[in-house]
Amino acid sequence: MLTYEDLQLFIDGRSREPASRRRADVLDPADGHRITTMPLGDAADVDAAVAAARRAFDEGPWPRLAPRERGRVLTRVAALIREHADELVERESHDVGKPVTLARVVDVETAAQQYEHAAALAQTSDGAVRHIPIPSFAYTLREPVGVVGAITPFNFPLILSSTKIGAALAAGCTVVHKPADDTPLSALFMAKLLQQAGVPDGVVNVVTGTGADVGEALLRHRGVDKIAFTGSTAIGRHAASVAGEHLKPVTMELGGNGAHLVFADADVESAVGAVIKAFVFNTGQFCMAGPRLLVQRPLLETLVGILEQAVPGVPVGDPRDPATVVGPMAGDRHLKKVEEYVALARSEGARIVCGGERPRMAGPLAEGTFYSPTVITDLSPDSRVVQEEVFGPVLTVQAFDTEAEAVAMANATPYGLAAGLHTTDLARAHRVAAALQAGIVWVNDWALLDPAIPFGGVKQSGFGREYGPESLESYTRSKSVVVAMPPQAGDEGAGR
Ligand code: NAD
Repeated sequence: MLTYEDLQLFIDGRSREPASRRRADVLDPADGHRITTMPLGDAADVDAAVAAARRAFDEGPWPRLAPRERGRVLTRVAALIREHADELVERESHDVGKPVTLARVVDVETAAQQYEHAAALAQTSDGAVRHIPIPSFAYTLREPVGVVGAITPFNFPLILSSTKIGAALAAGCTVVHKPADDTPLSALFMAKLLQQAGVPDGVVNVVTGTGADVGEALLRHRGVDKIAFTGSTAIGRHAASVAGEHLKPVTMELGGNGAHLVFADADVESAVGAVIKAFVFNTGQFCMAGPRLLVQRPLLETLVGILEQAVPGVPVGDPRDPATVVGPMAGDRHLKKVEEYVALARSEGARIVCGGERPRMAGPLAEGTFYSPTVITDLSPDSRVVQEEVFGPVLTVQAFDTEAEAVAMANATPYGLAAGLHTTDLARAHRVAAALQAGIVWVNDWALLDPAIPFGGVKQSGFGREYGPESLESYTRSKSVVVAMPPQAGDEGAGR
């Protein structure tokens, strides 16, 4: 069984014990064994981390480096991620229960790509000349916002921290990162890789611990200039209101409950692949999942029949087996939530087409938090199981008759993160994509993502965009400079 040395906070370029000396166990969700212990930071550690980040921003070299130099360092981070891929895969798999193949192909590779993208972005931050009708030379500069408090959730620890830290560093900001309460491994490992790549001490600090202690202290700290939050809508709402009291700019990447529309003219084979991917990917613990399947009525019975046959064949099992597609839920609290929603569906008279229970696992995996991919029909569209974010491998299926009805059903939840549709009618694809309330819409597939494509939510899924050039904007602000250019004698009118 894998175990690591006890973890330490990372502040001002050094590993250190938390001020409280308190620790919590980090458990492997595949079999419940203790991997290590993590420090439970508190406000005193946040103070120390913010002081280091503040110094690094106000006096240190990082914000003052030529953008190209920052880009070079970020390129080295990407190379180090690939060099240390095995260690990162191992950490992400034991911490979150991710299948190793997923962790390697998606998490580690995407993190490397995020830093590469950030390296390129670093060199694109610039301003613009503005021509105005007064004798002057007017231009804008983009400058880094300052110290960023980055708060991330449990489901993609490495990718989501890389997204925020990469873009923040590209902009010239410094960072205090708070990973999720129970998935600290990759964040603390990455802090050392960043240092090895040449990120100066104090520029990236990691404080682990609970949201109530570390997260709250970060939100309220006067030395933090911006909050970049990814997590649930409930906590995001709280975080935005606390940041609002302090007039701190925020980006909010929150929950989702994506609708996946299949029209009767769709290519059924490719739609089925996408439908399954959209709800089992990362064991359904995916903000951009598509857990609400909406099928045009003539195709309903056929599609449900195919899912009934295909879904039980999705390999669920040991995350260390390269053939595994669905690993355990990331922990007990996540498993219990899924079980409660499925029990609710049963109590409402729904039909459980497949799954609906924990699979039987052998040996140490019997202690793991596994749940079988589950397909549910015959639920009212108003059911909480349809309306809320279940965040597990659970798909609900509803029928629609017309395009207008499909769009109305798709938009009838408070969320608006991702959506998708399958059709062979090109005009319909564009029409429906425009009508869906979501930050990203996929046509004839699901989860096509790249660091160059901005993503973020609408409605209760948040605001602000990460990925793409938009990510740099959210870590910079515009400053206007207007230089008076009075006309010289004998030169009236010049420069107007
Ligand atoms: P969560 O909201 O419980 O926690 C997110 C982070 O907030 C954690 O680091 C947590 O410790 C911290 N936190 C908790 N209380 C806090 C407080 N009072 N002050 C400050 N910080 C606090 O979310 P989770 O369960 O870790 O992650 C799952 C959720 O994240 C889902 O809703 C999912 O949709 C969402 N998510 C969204 C995106 C996106 O890009 N939109 C990406 C991944 C996950």
